[in-house]
Amino acid sequence: MGFEFTFLGTGTSQGVPIIGKEYPEEFLANPKNHRTRSSIHVVTDEIKLVVDTTPDFRTQCLREEIRWLDAVLVTHAHTDHIMGMDDCRRFSEIRKGPLPVYASELTMSHLRRVHAHAFHDGEHPKGYFVPEEHVIEGPFELGDLKIYPMELPHGNMGSTGFLFEQNGIKKLAYLTDAKTVPDEVIEAVGRVEIAVLDALRPHEHWTHMSTGEALEAAKKIGAERTFLTHLTHYYDHDIDQAKLPEGIRLAWDGLKISLK
Ligand SMILES: [Zn+2]
Repeated sequence: MGFEFTFLGTGTSQGVPIIGKEYPEEFLANPKNHRTRSSIHVVTDEIKLVVDTTPDFRTQCLREEIRWLDAVLVTHAHTDHIMGMDDCRRFSEIRKGPLPVYASELTMSHLRRVHAHAFHDGEHPKGYFVPEEHVIEGPFELGDLKIYPMELPHGNMGSTGFLFEQNGIKKLAYLTDAKTVPDEVIEAVGRVEIAVLDALRPHEHWTHMSTGEALEAAKKIGAERTFLTHLTHYYDHDIDQAKLPEGIRLAWDGLKISLK
């Protein structure tokens, strides 16, 4: 039974490079320093889903040739995680029906506000995105996956991390947008095969983990492999990767991980 996921994007809220800033030629020459907003695409034999629909969602779908989705999971309602949602209209069109969207009650209330034309109980004009709302109240199943939501501290909004379990095996913990990984989350995801952690930049930030904070969390979680995401331009991929301990990688756009 396969489990594969792709980093659709690995960048912070503005992406990398940011608008109107000069960068050294060597920095721009490395494709791994070009980061669209953070999101993943998860595929098993039974299910295809994305976590978050970023402002880059359309280009990410075209780049990775995503032609079908069974569900969208949403971590939180910051604009860099939800502003591509309307491009899901194509998936409800392909499905000839609504596309399930899973989000916490708070996140769903923001989706209803921001994407009011789609998230409502009335009729949808032809061609509009038709979501099927699923408010997350605990673990849920999608195809061969059991998905455990994890509450993460992230500014005044919070964020939902997701642990993906397949056949009782903890495959992936996707924990982006977090100031810390609380002890109960560390315990729940402990010894997962892959951990993906927010590691915004080397120095501290009030809503995201720094590199050092992410490395500390990674150590406590003890995953077989850890990838850092939601990265700013403070990371020059090859230079900064060389400074990281074994088993910890900076993620990059398009990176695909296949698990047995
Ligand atoms: Zn955020």
